[in-house]
Amino acid sequence: MTQYEILKHYFGYDTFRDGQDVLIQNILEGRDVLGVMPTGAGKSLCYQIPALMMDGITLVISPLISLMKDQVSNLNQVGILAAYINSSLTAAQYYKVLDLARAGRYPIIYVAPERLMSEDFLRFALSGQVKISMVAVDEAHCVSQWGQDFRPSYLKIVDFINQLPVRPVVSAFTATATAQVRDDIIDILMLRNPQVMTTGFNRPNLYFGVQSPKDKYATMVNYLERHKGESGIIYCLTRKVVEEVCSQLIREGFSVTRYHAGLSDSERRHNQEDFIYDRAQIMVATNAFGMGIDKSNVRFVVHYNMPKNMESYYQEAGRAGRDGEPSECILLYGGQDVVTNQFFIDHNQDNEALDPVTREIVMERDRERLRKMTFYCFTNECLRDYILRYFGEYGSNYCGNCSNCLSQFETVDVTDISRILIGCVESCRQRYGTNVIIDTVRGANTAKIRNYRMDENPHYGELAKVPAYKLRQVMNHLMLNGYLAVTNDEYAIVKLTGKSKGILEEGEQVAMKMAREAEHPAKVAGAS
Ligand code: ADP
Ligand code: ZN
Repeated sequence: MTQYEILKHYFGYDTFRDGQDVLIQNILEGRDVLGVMPTGAGKSLCYQIPALMMDGITLVISPLISLMKDQVSNLNQVGILAAYINSSLTAAQYYKVLDLARAGRYPIIYVAPERLMSEDFLRFALSGQVKISMVAVDEAHCVSQWGQDFRPSYLKIVDFINQLPVRPVVSAFTATATAQVRDDIIDILMLRNPQVMTTGFNRPNLYFGVQSPKDKYATMVNYLERHKGESGIIYCLTRKVVEEVCSQLIREGFSVTRYHAGLSDSERRHNQEDFIYDRAQIMVATNAFGMGIDKSNVRFVVHYNMPKNMESYYQEAGRAGRDGEPSECILLYGGQDVVTNQFFIDHNQDNEALDPVTREIVMERDRERLRKMTFYCFTNECLRDYILRYFGEYGSNYCGNCSNCLSQFETVDVTDISRILIGCVESCRQRYGTNVIIDTVRGANTAKIRNYRMDENPHYGELAKVPAYKLRQVMNHLMLNGYLAVTNDEYAIVKLTGKSKGILEEGEQVAMKMAREAEHPAKVAGAS
């Protein structure tokens, strides 16, 4: 069968999606590939179809047991023989799979990365009785320390490949598009002259919105009431918030279920199925929910808290509208979200195994990402544009389908405010973070301000009449545009830059887009 016939016969689709045919063709010609495609774009078919056309076995390296099980059972359902090898198998099952594989039963075998270098598996792979024609690496960004979820076991993949008597085709797939991660994948997996295929990250059917409501819960309920009968996900940062939001919504009569790592396996599976089969309309979950979930009719994803970075945000938000129908991604920002995320960065257990130098690099990276996420919540520019630029693509500056493009903004001269903020940073000898600067110019009478003797600063109280959110927007604007910088450590101290002087001394003007007073999201209930 040709790839087109396989697509139709096994998967029931008539045409390939963007990028799929190119990747498949290259693999069939024996060339390594790297497919960078957003979640839901259809990466799996890109290795499954050639696997059925090549002789020998395709090993698919995948990080999650649950993901493997789903993929294998999906394949089995459409009549493709596939198996998986991971720690959930008993010894007897494991040897049975290897026996059947030796007998040529499976064109596709999913393997956990930590299994590759085990003695039994190496004996199998190197025996000469089997031909491994392709190694497909799913979630390939796991090889990169710069990636979202670095997995040391992924570093073993290349050792494994290098031991094989004949080098297989190596195909790698990820939804993480930053150049750094892309380069890491190519280097670390030692891809040979790979065909790199990046398909557009833009999802035009998704509306993006950010709000900073005083009362998040009320705003969310208001939103849900306007979306009765639609399927949606509410992401919260912690299990505790999931529990609170979920039980309150149940009390108010919404059809809700929940998902987080603190629930038993069986309850998680049960709740997930309730959501997938529309027995529960709304899923309230931590970021533990979603990887490998394929539900096409999710009409909205509300982030009840700001996630830790743009990668997470776009991946989670991107679970809306996989069927291509208009869907909404709403982020409800609150200052506490930054504090919580900062805490996670400072107490990340995964980092404890790292040597101190690497740990510091990883933490700096995470703080920088958190900052970019926070900027997303404060920018008045097109949100889609911000996202696409973050992932290294160019947007159009105006998408017409995000809360910023649809708000009325006016261009406001903020030179005076900027001069005072920068002046305050200078006169405190660049020793404090954003909050202290803002509290100082607002003339806050707090113990902290008195302790730092910022009440004696020449700019103390000079901007008492400007609302705090506006000062924060100006601060962010100054940082985004290089008029101020911030240290990349846990203190995030505001520093002057080469450009600061232009405003302080040379009469440079600063203008920025701002929502008209009445339209600031904080003052409007409900989105879109
Ligand atoms: P990814 O791994 O990129 O997140 P998947 O491989 O899970 O995406 O595919 C997402 C969904 O898109 C699946 O339901 C899959 O069957 C479907 N799909 C993949 N390729 C096509 C295609 N060419 N036409 C229609 N649907 C497709
Ligand atoms: Zn826009």
